[in-house]
Amino acid sequence: MSSLPSPMLDPFGRAITYLRVSVTDRCDLRCVYCMAEDMHFLPKKDVLTLEELERLSVAFIGLGTRKIRLTGGEPLVRRDVMRLVQRLGARIGVGAEQGLDELTLTTNGSQLARCAAGLAAAGMRRINVSLDTLDPAKFTLLTRWGKIGPTLEGIAAAKAAGLAVKINTVAMKGVNEDDFDALIAWCGEQGFDLCLIETMPMGEIGEDRTDQYLPLSVVRSRLRRRWTLDETDYRTGGPARYFGVRETGRRIGFITPMTHNFCESCNRVRLTCTGTLFMCLGQDDQADLRAVLRSGADDAALTAAIREAISRKPKGHDFIIDRRHDQPAVARHMSMTGG
Ligand code: SAM
Ligand code: SF4
Repeated sequence: MSSLPSPMLDPFGRAITYLRVSVTDRCDLRCVYCMAEDMHFLPKKDVLTLEELERLSVAFIGLGTRKIRLTGGEPLVRRDVMRLVQRLGARIGVGAEQGLDELTLTTNGSQLARCAAGLAAAGMRRINVSLDTLDPAKFTLLTRWGKIGPTLEGIAAAKAAGLAVKINTVAMKGVNEDDFDALIAWCGEQGFDLCLIETMPMGEIGEDRTDQYLPLSVVRSRLRRRWTLDETDYRTGGPARYFGVRETGRRIGFITPMTHNFCESCNRVRLTCTGTLFMCLGQDDQADLRAVLRSGADDAALTAAIREAISRKPKGHDFIIDRRHDQPAVARHMSMTGG
């Protein structure tokens, strides 16, 4: 019987078992905190083929990765992405060195009505859907042109397909801070967990973001006026800290990269759709795995390149909004690195 590979350890002894893979930089929306309105997307030749994405994913699995999350851009706008989902899905539950514990997805939901059943059939069990408000007009404002209808229909399709849905909401001062109560209540009715995320200063978005930043410590104290939040030790393998909402019976998570150092237990690295590996969301150090792949490297050389990159994983990010120069802390957009 083959056994599980021992996971790669970074210089700080953290086991790297979680790979986030951005399958495209393109998106059908333009969320104000994520993209500029006139984003330029990558030429096709720069983007890894689905086969290349699979080969890299498999190399990571062979090095102890047990969880893969597909993201983007909007992963479901990539043509034939379901092929990759099926190929990786076939490895779920295979308890040996070519197996995965979990394959999952982060999506804006717009294409879910079409894809949800296929995702479930491929072995996906839970997905994250980003939704910052339930107000249709505000949704359009926040996404610059999106309509909330397809996202809500997509979420309903995911639920009907048996996928556990977690809603991700980016908290923005003066924008959606009055929407959280409605989101908590709605998630309770629907049977979804909710996760609030602090805005991170990533990429030029054509607007000033120092005004958007809303510390979740403040939000949590405000929520406590209306909801009873009970501490839990629930973890999903991601950086969120969860509380039980007594009134709804569901959970609420807080991802606080800005106020709380969430790096100590970091188990993940991020692969962009161009094959660049970022060892930290908030740092620029990277490894060009596309160059390795396209140089005709064999599996041993590919594995060696991944190990070398992990040996450079930094201890933590330094997200500080450069207020004087109004620069993002990290120049690349979240849609490139994959959130
Ligand atoms: N398009 C998909 C979606 O929206 O879920 C997947 C990619 S998106 C980049 C992944 C997550 O990153 C989303 O939940 C989004 O809200 C979040 N995100 C994007 N830009 C962000 C930023 N500057 N700060 C915090 N979260 C951000
Ligand atoms: Fe697109 Fe997701 Fe970025 Fe919004 S957050 S613009 S949906 S990639």
